[in-house]
Amino acid sequence: MALLVVKDVFKSFDIKSIAAVDHLSFSIQNNEIVSVIGPSGTGKSTIVKIISGLLDFQSGSVLFAGKELVTHQSKNESLLRKISYVPQELSLDESKTVLENIGINLVEENEEKRHHLIRDMVETFGLQYKDHKFPSELSTGQKGRVEMAKALVTNPKLLILDEPFANLDRSLRNELKEELLEILKERKISAIVVTHDLEDAYSHSDRILVLSDGKIKQFSGASDIYLRPHDAWVAKFSGTANLMAGKVLEVNGDDYLQENKLGKFSLRCFDSKVKKESFAYMLIRPEACIISENGSFKGKLKKLVHMGSFYEGQVQMGGIEKFKILINHGQKFKVGQSLRFDIDSSQCQLLSI
Ligand code: ADP
Ligand code: MG
Repeated sequence: MALLVVKDVFKSFDIKSIAAVDHLSFSIQNNEIVSVIGPSGTGKSTIVKIISGLLDFQSGSVLFAGKELVTHQSKNESLLRKISYVPQELSLDESKTVLENIGINLVEENEEKRHHLIRDMVETFGLQYKDHKFPSELSTGQKGRVEMAKALVTNPKLLILDEPFANLDRSLRNELKEELLEILKERKISAIVVTHDLEDAYSHSDRILVLSDGKIKQFSGASDIYLRPHDAWVAKFSGTANLMAGKVLEVNGDDYLQENKLGKFSLRCFDSKVKKESFAYMLIRPEACIISENGSFKGKLKKLVHMGSFYEGQVQMGGIEKFKILINHGQKFKVGQSLRFDIDSSQCQLLSI
């Protein structure tokens, strides 16, 4: 049985404006870490607040372990206690110590049990020497650890994080997230992690829910989002994409022949909307372009963008202005130089326009 089922949830903040969450349905399994990504204002915070019981909505329902958690008319408060919600901004009480902050949401009244649960969190998050300090005496990373301890001390089955630690630098954020995910897996806690950072989503989730305008664009594993995007929008949102429009000339079983500015290509296609005679995009990811002296395609390097472990080269060829290819540090190309490359069409696919 799914841990969480979101059924046809609809929320509009104002009758005249478009829906913030537009009839969303999806489910999350036990022990699953799901990232929610999408452009700003797309309903990410709205849906996680609805699931956490913090926001009313107009229709639909959310089930937790098969039981009604929240509907537009009711809330099951005891079930909601199985969910911990961590907002974007750090929410520690400056007037309370680390120990007091961790225990803030703990309903357990037995002193001994309380103490045991809080100590367990202090040790899990390595806060042993900080337990009597106040938030102002902690580093940002330590504050983040207290925040996580506070969320997990109630022993939730589902942790919801809305853009956690968005104000921390990437390396600290990664460190905290990795630490947290290990703990979640160990304790068999599921999580929904809202993020605007694609790399975060790719590295830290079992599945990724892509939202746009309050609707699901795609919900699948990280490699499917990148390698089998459902449409051109997801292809662009999930990474660098060259989209070459052209007519589909032939369809033979799984083999589609498309012609675009670069030539004719035999391609795969997972998009049922693409038919013979229709216009479609050939999706070419930069890494499908292989630089070689005798390559079939020739262009001029207009720009080199440093991406850390590699360069993204922007190539001009014919009427195509910014064709993006991947260039390794060892390949010593300079802006203005010509280069040749081949396209591995087995790594490419067709998407409907
Ligand atoms: P995200 O978290 O993806 O950036 P939100 O869920 O916060 O997006 O917002 C979705 C939409 O709902 C946006 O258009 C936003 O302006 C609107 N919205 C969010 N909160 C409120 C609110 N309290 N009152 C009115 N409109 C809101
Ligand atoms: Mg938000």
